Amino acid sequence: MKVNAIETDSKGVLYIVSTPIGNLEDITRRSVELLKEVDLIAAEDTRRTRILLNHYDISTRLSSFHSYNQEKKGGRFIETLNEGKDLALVSDAGTPGISDPLYHLVQLALAEEIIVQALPGPSAVLAALTVSGLPMDRFVFEGFLPLKKKRQTRIKELAEEKRTIVIYESPHRIQKTLRELHEVLGNRKAAVARELTKMYEEVIRGTLQDLAATAEKKKWKGEITLVIAGSSFKES
Ligand code: SAM
Repeated sequence: MKVNAIETDSKGVLYIVSTPIGNLEDITRRSVELLKEVDLIAAEDTRRTRILLNHYDISTRLSSFHSYNQEKKGGRFIETLNEGKDLALVSDAGTPGISDPLYHLVQLALAEEIIVQALPGPSAVLAALTVSGLPMDRFVFEGFLPLKKKRQTRIKELAEEKRTIVIYESPHRIQKTLRELHEVLGNRKAAVARELTKMYEEVIRGTLQDLAATAEKKKWKGEITLVIAGSSFKES
């Protein structure tokens, strides 16, 4: 008998399973058990997910699900679910759908009246926010800033934002982004959260000017989340 999966009469259930953002121990017991019980796991990079599955002795079949094959694969997964098989969707790290593919599959599943259930867990957005030292009662998540077109417009819009702002950024662009944010938003308080939950985890807090100056001298590596004070922030 399945312990964690829901028993349904005919259709399978689509489970959205959050996985670690670095430290492999950061996964719930329920998620580990469910990943053992489902018929299929859809993963962004199957090699990366295999490391997690091996760590927990999970032998469930894996199938790839990327942003570039999500339409085609999404249709196949819906067929699988309609045949009564349970599917767990994971991303490379954190919560699927948060700057990772998912939205389209959930839409397809709901249109077919398939049950969609979340197994919550880590996400870099919340991990970074909680260690930033900035207000977290209200915040906005921007994902990645656009690379070219609309980038400046988006940054100007952010200047008006009163709530704390969370942005995902790559190590190659962090220097440029901090400089641009400082130019448009002014000298706000901010935090750069790098490699959270991993061996070289660090959180650098300061003003955008300090951080931009630090960024000029530093060789950035790893995964970065940037948290910036909103326009209404006042030091207490
Ligand atoms: N779905 C994931 C989540 O829930 O956090 C995010 C996926 S998005 C494609 C990847 C981005 O998340 C990275 O480029 C980085 O900005 C951020 N990120 C992921 N892991 C992180 C970590 N350990 N520390 C800081 N930021 C991280």
